[in-house]
Amino acid sequence: MSSDAQTQPLDVVVVGAGFAGMYAIWKLRQSGLRLKVIEAGSDVGGTWYWNRYPGARCDITSMEYSYGFSEALQQEWEWTEIMAAQPEILSYAQHVAERFDLRKDIDFDTRVTGVHYSDDTGLWEITTDNGREYQARFCIMATGCLSVPNTPVIEGQETFAGEVYHTGNWPTEGVDFSGKSVGIIGTGSSGVQSIPVIAREARHLTVFQRTPNYNLPANNAPLPDDYQTKIKTNYSAVREAQRHSQIGVSEFSRGLGGLGSYPEPEEEILRTTEEERQRVLDEEGFEAIRRYNDLALSPEANEMACDMFREQVARVVSDPETAEGLMPRGYPYGCKRPVIDIGYFETFNRDNVTLVDLRRGGIERITPTGVETAQGHFEFDVLVYATGFDAMTGALLRMDIRGRGGRSLAEHWEHGPKTYLGLQMSGFPNLFTVTGPGSPSVLSNMLVSIEQHVDWISDCINHLDQKGASRIEPDPDAEEAWVRHVFEIADGTMLTSESCNSWYLGANIPGKPRIFMPYVAGVGVYREICDGVVADGYRGFEISAG
Ligand code: FAD
Ligand code: NAP
Repeated sequence: MSSDAQTQPLDVVVVGAGFAGMYAIWKLRQSGLRLKVIEAGSDVGGTWYWNRYPGARCDITSMEYSYGFSEALQQEWEWTEIMAAQPEILSYAQHVAERFDLRKDIDFDTRVTGVHYSDDTGLWEITTDNGREYQARFCIMATGCLSVPNTPVIEGQETFAGEVYHTGNWPTEGVDFSGKSVGIIGTGSSGVQSIPVIAREARHLTVFQRTPNYNLPANNAPLPDDYQTKIKTNYSAVREAQRHSQIGVSEFSRGLGGLGSYPEPEEEILRTTEEERQRVLDEEGFEAIRRYNDLALSPEANEMACDMFREQVARVVSDPETAEGLMPRGYPYGCKRPVIDIGYFETFNRDNVTLVDLRRGGIERITPTGVETAQGHFEFDVLVYATGFDAMTGALLRMDIRGRGGRSLAEHWEHGPKTYLGLQMSGFPNLFTVTGPGSPSVLSNMLVSIEQHVDWISDCINHLDQKGASRIEPDPDAEEAWVRHVFEIADGTMLTSESCNSWYLGANIPGKPRIFMPYVAGVGVYREICDGVVADGYRGFEISAG
């Protein structure tokens, strides 16, 4: 047992010290709760601690992708770019940890393996890979939606003789690619960000691409002074606007760059002529695809915009065969998490970059010297997996979480994740998830969603303590109804289209139930629902004395 926990159970154990776990410390301390955060990594930052691959940066303006809980913090911190790179975001996390003295409540280098509810004591018993044990009244899973790197099983992968890396678990000391030939598998956001940078460093880069994306240009730049002044002068209004928006970005950043900051699309592509579309493409290039407002509603409109996108690929990429290989086909624009890039397509004009379009013949096996495909063998010294994550449920299911009567979370989620509001599961009293499936989560600016969830959970614990109650868990009917609601509003949108294999649906992990996991109605609507539930006396939850 943790030395602290030996004498007396803790009030709260938080698993994970990314932005969610860090904020939980600050917030729960306000109520004087005794808590401990358990983190597998050696420092704070979560995503930004693990994803140190070259080119990693956020895709939302940093002045909005940052904490809003402290006016002093948001005034004193200076971002240097519109969308900060990983080292700067990690420095920000470290600054927050120091400023609020967070590390003293974190046990690092400790991975939680078991989280068991005791029916006898009403406490959670937490076990870890280094033998430390904890007991707590409440358990908050701040384990991240994108924290379990996915390495696909490929025949022969263990025989590869060179260096092997995964973008989601990048070495702290970095990787020197100079003079080396590199193979990279995967062209999602992580691949798209790292490929241009690795191409500049390596002798040669071979890109193994299974599905090309409809990437948009990041339009990153040094942070404009006038924008910084505007945001800092209006920060409380910015944060308030975020909280009631669709994805957690305010109109103060409109037109700047990054997700959520694009101008509202105003034109219907179905009303345009071929001539007009050509002119728009000349003027706007890849950005043309986001100026139309009928792409979500009409497959025909969507396909017209996709045609424009493909034409732009052909305009940018000199070699026609490579250009054809980089053109997305067969699924609509907008059904996956948008990928934004800095010079991605131009990278394929370099002499030292080869595209292997796996649609023309897939990977057969990995060999000691490279990758064997149906199109031939490709050799390299270093293999990089940019193959994503077991998203949203991965970190939770990797722990042995057992609720009342010893029932496991794996059993509860056998047919896909079931939660009430993405905050709790029935049968798992006093266990909360931050940005869990069934909440806006990965469809939003995550910092906004994290603060909302942690605030809600903290208020909930205070409410129980004030009432002298000891347990809260969802009523199974409320949970079922929420799961149905989450499904119904996603159903029929592009996000659940049959032709779309996104990680939102779990489609990237063999055997994972194909269920759309996040809640699409937006952070503003969702916040109102959560607040309404509280106003109605925690409608849908069972609260009891134990
Ligand atoms: P994480 O940051 O994932 O932290 C979870 C922590 O829990 C990790 O440190 C992990 O080690 C720990 N943990 C997990 N399981 C255990 C266990 N069993 N025992 C102990 N510790 C455990 N979101 C945006 O909104 N905008 C962006 O621009 C953006 N960019 C991203 C870029 C990349 C490369 C990635 C991978 C994600 C990005 N995201 C972005 C999503 C990002 O994950 C969130 O924004 C946010 O950082 C999540 O914070 P978190 O604390 O919830 O989770
Ligand atoms: P991802 O979007 O899941 O992309 C994984 C890539 O690997 C895809 O191209 C996938 O191809 C490919 N792949 C997987 N298994 C493969 C196999 N067996 N053979 C060949 N290719 C394979 O993962 P990610 O790029 O790490 O991004 C995940 C999420 O993290 C993003 O959507 C975003 O939310 C977040 N992120 C954000 C940023 C940012 O810009 N701020 C950067 C990185 C990550 P298929 O598409 O065919 O499956």
